[in-house]
Amino acid sequence: MQIHNQAAPGKLEEVRRFINTWSIPNQTRIETDLLPPLVSDPIAWEREVSVCPLQSGDSLETLLALRTDLRRTCAGHSEDRDALNPWFEQTPLIALVRSTDGGTATQLKPSQNTYVAYILAIVANAINCAQWSRLKTCGDCQWAFYDHTRSASKRWCGMSKGGPQGRACGTIAKVRAFREREVRKVR
Ligand SMILES: [Zn+2]
Repeated sequence: MQIHNQAAPGKLEEVRRFINTWSIPNQTRIETDLLPPLVSDPIAWEREVSVCPLQSGDSLETLLALRTDLRRTCAGHSEDRDALNPWFEQTPLIALVRSTDGGTATQLKPSQNTYVAYILAIVANAINCAQWSRLKTCGDCQWAFYDHTRSASKRWCGMSKGGPQGRACGTIAKVRAFREREVRKVR
């Protein structure tokens, strides 16, 4: 973990952990994919990623493709907003009606016994309660974080290092933009 207070609420945190199985660690700055070893280690999977175990339908190939599309939607590009639609077409969800303080709401449940269906149900519920747009990938290091700010305008995983492994991506990006402006002035 890089910076504190990045965890997503409830089960959405399991999606964030899944997305962060691919990362660029600060120590090495080399793209690292932990998904292949985690897929073959059920104990590490449960500890590091999700309480939902992988099923026979959850091939590594499928999980890699799902993670790529989840990352695309978290990056905030408008052209990628519907990147998950093919997944929802392949994996229908069941809607259950439940009572709330103000009346009723629907909650989506997986219709198949797979990890992929489990994740898609979490994502669909997060979309419905406006939490999904707060799960973002850092514009610099690509780390996935949950934006807890009131304005939901956070673009980087952190503005300060926050610890020995933290990365001040926001500050780094601002310094870089400042330098680029200075270079342009000189030209
Ligand atoms: Zn970052």
